[in-house]
Amino acid sequence: MAERVQVERVCKRYRGAAAAALDEVSLVVEPGEILVLLGPSGSGKTTLLRCLAGIERVSDGAIRLGDRLVADARLHLAPDRRNLAMVFQDFALWPHMTVLENAAFALRRRHNERPAALAKAQAMLERVGLGSYGGRYPHELSGGEQQRVALARALVAQPDLLLFDEPLSSLDANLRERLRIEIATLVREQGATVVYITHDQGEAFALGDKIGVLQAGRLIQHGPPEALYGSPATPFVAHFTGLAGTLRGVHPGPGPAGPGPVTVAIPSTDHRRGLELAATAMSVLEPGAPVQVLLRPTAARICRTGSRPAVLRGIVRAGAFQGRGYDYVVEVGRDLLLTGVFDRRRFARGESVDLFVDAKQSLVFADPEPIDAPLVAAEAVIRVACGEALSGVPSGPDLTV
Ligand code: ADP
Ligand code: MG
Repeated sequence: MAERVQVERVCKRYRGAAAAALDEVSLVVEPGEILVLLGPSGSGKTTLLRCLAGIERVSDGAIRLGDRLVADARLHLAPDRRNLAMVFQDFALWPHMTVLENAAFALRRRHNERPAALAKAQAMLERVGLGSYGGRYPHELSGGEQQRVALARALVAQPDLLLFDEPLSSLDANLRERLRIEIATLVREQGATVVYITHDQGEAFALGDKIGVLQAGRLIQHGPPEALYGSPATPFVAHFTGLAGTLRGVHPGPGPAGPGPVTVAIPSTDHRRGLELAATAMSVLEPGAPVQVLLRPTAARICRTGSRPAVLRGIVRAGAFQGRGYDYVVEVGRDLLLTGVFDRRRFARGESVDLFVDAKQSLVFADPEPIDAPLVAAEAVIRVACGEALSGVPSGPDLTV
């Protein structure tokens, strides 16, 4: 039976550490739901998982599994009394046990009769495609096969809650995708509640019914993938869920604007004239407020030169053939590269192109917070001195950064 997981204002302070590893984290995972925790290294993902598992004590707050309180500042239920299973990044199989014995381990610990346990383990190995591997030892398997054994070992006792800590991060890309699909299929068939950690946005979106973004021990946002993508709560969440690039500018006023459709002024260092960009404000913008415009990967599209309405003008710096078409890196202005600009047509390196920018996928945040997320590879942030070229912002549609 899948269980509801309730995390209520959980804090975790490690002895001697300056900052809390978890700072008042609250969330609910409904029975049978897959929650993916996404966040950079050191943001507290593993700590939260270990608190759920009972490997770590919480300093404050409470954790409930179903209607049972399993942890608070005083109470601590041991891991083996929580009916859960964990899958780790490093597989953590018993090296001295065969694959079949590893898979049967949880059942044997629960005092299942050996023949019955081995039969169930064998059936589970068949489910993960390792039916004929039962007699081997872990060192005789590839990484992907070892992780399948770990998965079988976790699933075999039908736990209420399954916890995954970056289970695919030591596997190569091809295998990662295949195993990700297998994990999703198997856990959904079992109907277990799942908390799954990753720092890979693609993995999070592919697996999660809900996604929680952690930053420095705090849960910044928690909701369905579509909500995080469409309305990220902060620039940090937007960065972590995928961007092509960032523009800096101001909201020209005269009055406040947003949330919703707005026009922002992007100054330029290259030319006298900046541009006005239609975009979507995530909050209220005060007149004259510095803003950052975060462009989702599909926000910019290459269009025919000279087309209307307003476009960015850019130069193709690199292109990668992707089968269905090409992913381009387009330089727009001196300091800004847009990555992952998709088009079916082939453009040469150095070619000038015009870009249409989709206002709905251009997210505006006021008062930019410093971004300590690792920026997506090849992404460049334009740092234009705000106000410098604002007087030159024209109102016409023919604009160039
Ligand atoms: P993540 O899994 O997101 O990379 P962790 O939960 O492992 O993050 O770590 C969160 C923070 O807690 C980090 O600053 C880390 O250094 C600290 N931390 C983790 N485990 C311990 C520990 N056993 N003792 C002291 N500090 C720890
Ligand atoms: Mg971790």
